[in-house]
Amino acid sequence: MTVRVRIAPSPTGNLHIGTARTAVFNWLFARHHGGKFILRIEDTDLERSRPEYTDNILEGLRWLGLNWDEGPFFQSQRLDFYKEAVQKLLDQGLAYRCYTTSEELETLREAQKARGEAPRYDNRHRNLTPEQRAAFEAEGRSSVIRFKIEDGREIVWNDLVRGKMSWRGSDLGGDMVIARASEEGSGQPLYNFVVVVDDIDMQITHVIRGEDHIANTAKQILLYEAMGAKIPEFAHTPLILNMEGRKLSKRDGVTSISDFQQMGFTAEGLVNYMTLLGWSPPDSTQEIFTLEEAAKEFGFERVNKAGAKFDWDKLDWLNSQYIHKTPVDKLTDLLIPYWQAAGYKFDGGRVDAERLLVRDRAWLEQLVTLISQSLTRLVDAVPQSQLFFTDTVEFSDEGSTQLKQEGSTAVLEGIVTALENQPQLSEAAAQEIIKQVVKEQKVKKGLVMRSLRAALTGDVHGPDLIQSWLLLNQIGLDKSRLSRAITEAN
Ligand code: GLU
Repeated sequence: MTVRVRIAPSPTGNLHIGTARTAVFNWLFARHHGGKFILRIEDTDLERSRPEYTDNILEGLRWLGLNWDEGPFFQSQRLDFYKEAVQKLLDQGLAYRCYTTSEELETLREAQKARGEAPRYDNRHRNLTPEQRAAFEAEGRSSVIRFKIEDGREIVWNDLVRGKMSWRGSDLGGDMVIARASEEGSGQPLYNFVVVVDDIDMQITHVIRGEDHIANTAKQILLYEAMGAKIPEFAHTPLILNMEGRKLSKRDGVTSISDFQQMGFTAEGLVNYMTLLGWSPPDSTQEIFTLEEAAKEFGFERVNKAGAKFDWDKLDWLNSQYIHKTPVDKLTDLLIPYWQAAGYKFDGGRVDAERLLVRDRAWLEQLVTLISQSLTRLVDAVPQSQLFFTDTVEFSDEGSTQLKQEGSTAVLEGIVTALENQPQLSEAAAQEIIKQVVKEQKVKKGLVMRSLRAALTGDVHGPDLIQSWLLLNQIGLDKSRLSRAITEAN
């Protein structure tokens, strides 16, 4: 048997973290078994489905590296196929037209509520005579299609995550609506029905989805039986919870994969983290792995039943690990969109008319080398490199205090003088200038370094000083900053 699994998102919103995590588990399971991962867009809800959400879902899956083997299939293009399937159930007497009005259903629900019962349809139109049906139609009532569910049935399956699951037919709310009313013929088919029709047609062997679908599974098993199809295996994956143990929601600042992208997470870091949301590898000390590596080990025996807590610190830590080992040229590519979004100018943005120096690719890569090890999220590069993209810097309190230290101005003046003979600064020349100033002015090297840092960056902490200086020198900003710092100090 070839394993065939699917992810079946509804394009009623951007790709959600929960859906994406379900996609990860499907992908891992398919790859582990050398099977197929299929993408199906469940867009039968015409009012809420939007093409831009479909685009966002496809882009998100691609970005995460969750490549699919078949699809995307669109349910909206298969409506005739579903209508035929509805008709078959009607013809076999396994489904029927129900003419109960919404007012009648409401009255029924009220009465049930008053008796302290759970709301359910009472199957009142299950055995209408042709005359009764004709009478309802003559009244102009519209109909839905209901599938018969026997109250006495016990539905049992062996869930790959949760073990033996069992439901009573009487707990499924009465005969279920599989198609809504519509002008022509069999009506608009609904989720629980089309999902089964498609999973049969696409020969899905394992249905892997969130545990919020458990009640649907009981209903769907009855539909598989009615359609004479083999019932697939089911695996219901745990919900993602916030740190307080409640279902993760928009209030937690987490919504879609594109939000995570904007927040500066790398695809590899995020997908690695999602793999660990409910699954642990056999060697539980191993936390960093690619999707391919995880796929080798993946199985449902190591997927938890309990909800998976979303841990931002761990995600940040994993993300930083990926950033720190990304090669400079690739990391530069990843950072460019964040700098652009911040309005930073580079690639030919001339800053010094005389020397025609530019923030070019080589300069950017040098900057990336300088800051890469201190990035947790890609977006951190924006504040951390701001001083290299603005003409002047703001002085922090500590920076100002440093500039007012005894000897600081003289040190900076010494550096300015030394720079006059050094249009293009090299690392060795920079070191030499510092040494020379220490010697000439008989001051501690620490004073020179701290004063230089305050002058160039406005602050007393920051990335490697010599490298920062070289970067500023290349774009012609070091001298102007030194001069301004001398003014600031006096
Ligand atoms: N369209 C459903 C959802 O997005 C799919 C559920 C399933 O996998 O069957 O929740």
